[in-house]
Amino acid sequence: MTGAAGVGLAGAGAVGYRVWRDREPASPPAQDAAGHLLWRNWSGIRGSYPAQRAAPSSEGELAGLLKTAPAPIRPVGAGHSFTALVPTSGLLLTLDQMSGLVRHDADKLQATVRAGTRLGDLGPALAAIGQEMPNLPDINKQSLAGAISTGTHGTGRGITAIHGQVLSFRLATPKGDLLDCSPASNPEIYNAARVGLGAFGVVTEVTLQNQPLKRIYKRVELRDFHEVCDAWPELQAKHRNVEFYAIPFTGKVALITADPTDRPTLPRGPEVDNATLMDLKRLRDLFGLIPPLRRAVANGLMGDIKPEEMVDEGWKLLSNDRSVRFNEMEFHLPRETQIPALKEVMAAIEKHRGDVFFPIEARTIAADDAWLSPFYQRPSGSVAVHAYYKDDYAFLFDLIEPIFRRYDGRPHWGKLNSLGAGDFSRLYPRWKEACEVRAALDPTGRFLNPYLRKVFLGQS
Ligand SMILES: Cc1cc2nc3c(=O)[nH]c(=O)nc-3n(C[C@H](O)[C@H](O)[C@H](O)COP(=O)(O)OP(=O)(O)OC[C@H]3O[C@@H](n4cnc5c(N)ncnc54)[C@H](O)[C@@H]3O)c2cc1C
Repeated sequence: MTGAAGVGLAGAGAVGYRVWRDREPASPPAQDAAGHLLWRNWSGIRGSYPAQRAAPSSEGELAGLLKTAPAPIRPVGAGHSFTALVPTSGLLLTLDQMSGLVRHDADKLQATVRAGTRLGDLGPALAAIGQEMPNLPDINKQSLAGAISTGTHGTGRGITAIHGQVLSFRLATPKGDLLDCSPASNPEIYNAARVGLGAFGVVTEVTLQNQPLKRIYKRVELRDFHEVCDAWPELQAKHRNVEFYAIPFTGKVALITADPTDRPTLPRGPEVDNATLMDLKRLRDLFGLIPPLRRAVANGLMGDIKPEEMVDEGWKLLSNDRSVRFNEMEFHLPRETQIPALKEVMAAIEKHRGDVFFPIEARTIAADDAWLSPFYQRPSGSVAVHAYYKDDYAFLFDLIEPIFRRYDGRPHWGKLNSLGAGDFSRLYPRWKEACEVRAALDPTGRFLNPYLRKVFLGQS
């Protein structure tokens, strides 16, 4: 073979490999043998064929359903969790018809909201009454109950996850009773089921402590990875919200800060994050095997990127549109170990996983007192690692999770992890009490699917 032919063959092989790697993941059949339709989560890795589906429009209808429905009974929100919390062969239950604002208290800045309300609809509804949630996650597609049930959070040194603002909630229990839960009424259930994984019953209404509606100034800029890691404590002290996305194989981070402001509105421009992600993918595809070249080209391209600035109400700016699908693992670490853990994660990826191109996200969350909150009595720093939905994500378990475990990380309930009951009983000081509350509400485990049996009962 001539040299030119060899180069040609190698080139064709590389192109063939890229096409193969870029194929759509296989889809399960749209229905099973009994004709039950497929349900799938957002990223596509979880699915099941529920025997029954229901969308009750009132608490009475819901309570009636719970008494007779086939188990496992699984509430679903927007299906944005990566863990197998939702799949069921029994009843799949959505509260999509139980959404919207119920009432509010203008003086106390409190609002009672139906649990099926999507966060994206809640923002404008609260703004109309002069209120806002103190913080929001990276997207706003989730249902309020789904977000609270997994400890969904944004970022901010003194700001809790969403469930930290929950003053009370109503729970339709597995037996079909309706309970008001707050520090004054059914306090044990309030503590155990506030971050409840949909395992204690169905949350129907939530009362939130909000804050006055304000504009924020949000800024996104590229900075050096090590410089931001070193300045992390000062950045947290300086800004109401701060987070960063560390971009592997570039030495750069996208630093995002947000602070209350009286500046005039400067609306956010067109969304660019998804296009940037696809550029990072192209760099991976072209230069993944030659890290120094990948870094040099990335830095060349990034040199021209100007900071993004915007001023508007928080609900319009804090969440983003994430239309490039991925799978994700996120652990919440004792705050002082966040940066050391992140640096280990970054080094492991850059040493072993040239295929990774998604940025790694670092956020901070204040402590709270819900028994199953990953932030229970622990101010936390989170580190989240993503894998493109077409790419292999096994490295999250083999390479990344052992690092998080060594730092005593508690996994996000909605994101990939391999932990079970034994791990949780060690990581959560009130685990035993929470399990007792769950068992009393659902003695026969009608709300437990196989994954929740692993979590709560240690069954594999
Ligand atoms: C693109 C993307 C971005 C994300 N960004 C963030 C982020 O910034 N911060 C973060 O913390 N997480 C984030 N997540 C994770 C996500 O917020 C959680 O997985 C959340 O639980 C999803 O809400 P959902 O409405 O889709 O709930 P689902 O995934 O449908 O359900 C989650 C849990 O809630 C339970 N549940 C739902 N409704 C009820 C109810 N009425 N009563 C009782 N239990 C109920 C379900 O049974 C299940 O256990 C992200 C996920 C994706 C896919």
